[in-house]
Amino acid sequence: MIETLLEVSDLTVGYGRVTALREVSLTVRAGETVAILGANGAGKTTLLNAISGVLPVRSGAVRYAGRGITGMKPWATARLGVSHVPEGREIFPGMTVEANLRLIDVHGGGPDFSIDDVLEMFPRLGERFGQLAGGLSGGEQQMLAIGRGLMASPRLLLLDEPSLGLSPMLSRAVLGAIAGLKARGISALLVEQNMRAALKVADRGYVLRVGRITAEGSAAELEASPDIRRAYLGV
Ligand code: ATP
Repeated sequence: MIETLLEVSDLTVGYGRVTALREVSLTVRAGETVAILGANGAGKTTLLNAISGVLPVRSGAVRYAGRGITGMKPWATARLGVSHVPEGREIFPGMTVEANLRLIDVHGGGPDFSIDDVLEMFPRLGERFGQLAGGLSGGEQQMLAIGRGLMASPRLLLLDEPSLGLSPMLSRAVLGAIAGLKARGISALLVEQNMRAALKVADRGYVLRVGRITAEGSAAELEASPDIRRAYLGV
């Protein structure tokens, strides 16, 4: 039987009087790439933040690799192999590409990832290795953020809008690299507004609409469904 790596049950999360997620449930099995699709403000970032421990949850539970991680701090979930690559990238602009990668001293128990592995995945970072991260293009910064996430040797990568702001060519490069993680046994929960691109790399997906899961299915099912498209577009 394939292991359920991540199990989110009835998760409710809010900001003051705003409830951003309502009773959200989903699973990621070992080796799967799962997409969370939704329009602006649907709650996608909130979901990843609640899983990794950046945000507290109001109710519900997060289980990972068979243990409860609800309310754990981000550094603790990272040590267990949950690596969060946030939207906005959050790299250190005043440090070199190399220093950004070397900063990570966590081993999450997943497949070993060395700097050489990251450079093989993103050769562009090799060309910019000694340069300050702040001088990288948007796409290169995204590659660096993902590379840094991988340096923690995760079992589960949480990716927030990796294709945001990238040219179609760079989006393809970044999403292609994400697809390649599967072969290394790394699972991914991928948040994307770019539905087409996400469904190309994902095995399954969930549609999040104003804080609730309104549809789920295989990538092929979601791609084919006109209802999903409407829900996703907020029509
Ligand atoms: P986007 O793609 O625009 O980032 P999203 O799907 O990631 O959207 P979230 O950022 O998770 O959505 O936001 C979900 C809801 O929570 C929105 O209604 C948003 O306005 C609200 N929200 C997010 N952050 C805060 C905050 N710090 N304080 C109050 N409300 C917030």
